Amino acid sequence: MNFDRTPALVFWETTQACELACRHCRASAMPNPGPGQLTTDEGLALIEKLSHFRASPTERLPVLVLTGGDVLMRPDLFQLVSAARLAGLSVALAPSVTPRLTPTVLTELRNLGVSSISISLDGATPATHQGIRGVAGHFELTLAALRLATDLGFKTQVNTAVMRANTRELAGVAAIVKEVGASAWEVFFLVKVGRGRDQQELSPPENEDVCHFLYDASHYGFAVRTVEAPWYRRVMAERARERVGGLASARALGPLYQELSEELRHRLGPAEKASNSASAGTRDGKGIFFISHDGWAFPAGFLPLRLGNVKEEDPVAIYRDHELLKAIRRAEFSGRCGRCELRDLCGGSRSRAWASFGDPLGQDPACGYVPA
Ligand code: SF4
Repeated sequence: MNFDRTPALVFWETTQACELACRHCRASAMPNPGPGQLTTDEGLALIEKLSHFRASPTERLPVLVLTGGDVLMRPDLFQLVSAARLAGLSVALAPSVTPRLTPTVLTELRNLGVSSISISLDGATPATHQGIRGVAGHFELTLAALRLATDLGFKTQVNTAVMRANTRELAGVAAIVKEVGASAWEVFFLVKVGRGRDQQELSPPENEDVCHFLYDASHYGFAVRTVEAPWYRRVMAERARERVGGLASARALGPLYQELSEELRHRLGPAEKASNSASAGTRDGKGIFFISHDGWAFPAGFLPLRLGNVKEEDPVAIYRDHELLKAIRRAEFSGRCGRCELRDLCGGSRSRAWASFGDPLGQDPACGYVPA
């Protein structure tokens, strides 16, 4: 895809309402919808406008990811999904695991053409996952939801937010990803927005260790992707260069990598397959586009810089023509990311640059790479 013209993924935060109150929630979700939430008619109009990303039959449309809050809190969800499918958009769903996520609802969504479901799992043990999600019994409910989604034929993705509270359980989470038959594991590196401000990020060397571990984990039959950690692509490139059969040496890596990769091999045995870490090369504002519950467009869900409101403006024009997004796509960064020879391959997390320095084109402080 040409990311100057079309994003790979459009995230629509259909509502901020959610029955959960997770410790790292970007949206600081609450029990009721926020003011100005797009109505059904406004949502249908948005879907129609998004279909204009395709100017010719050969162009691909973005995948529409319906998220929240909890997308299942939208009473018009089935209507929105049907309209998106009719408009030619692929639809993915990121629901919260609550009593609303029933086999009947999932079956209906599958029948309406939703292709993939992502479900959050933030630890390999009930204590850790439930400590973050704040609901007793939520660990088992989450595993059951993942198994059900896989059984119903969805492409199932496990989402995990990495923070100090759960890092040491990542190998256990990888084993669960494999056990429930998920096709992808998407690992989000904390950005201090929303309730995530109160959580502890890892240091740059620890991030490096986790990325190398994730590369190891990508050899077990499921895809491994990262969110707000585009430097994972640098690690992938390094590892692919070094690999001469089997895993690369762990020479410069730290004790966290040694611990996680040993645990991974203990749980899943030797690496089974070639790495599945294919990346579309996106970053906030380049292939990624976010629409909030009240219609504001942002470069990403973790970068709260308003670009325009889709109630009045055309989302296609905002994505293609906004000067900030053009600068992000041209990799016009400052600081270390600006000097980095890998700035186009990687480019750093624009959200974290903004959260740390107030500059969406600044350097990403979570990356420990020293440019050549
Ligand atoms: S310095 Fe910036 S562009 Fe270079 S690898 Fe690190 S985050 Fe990516």
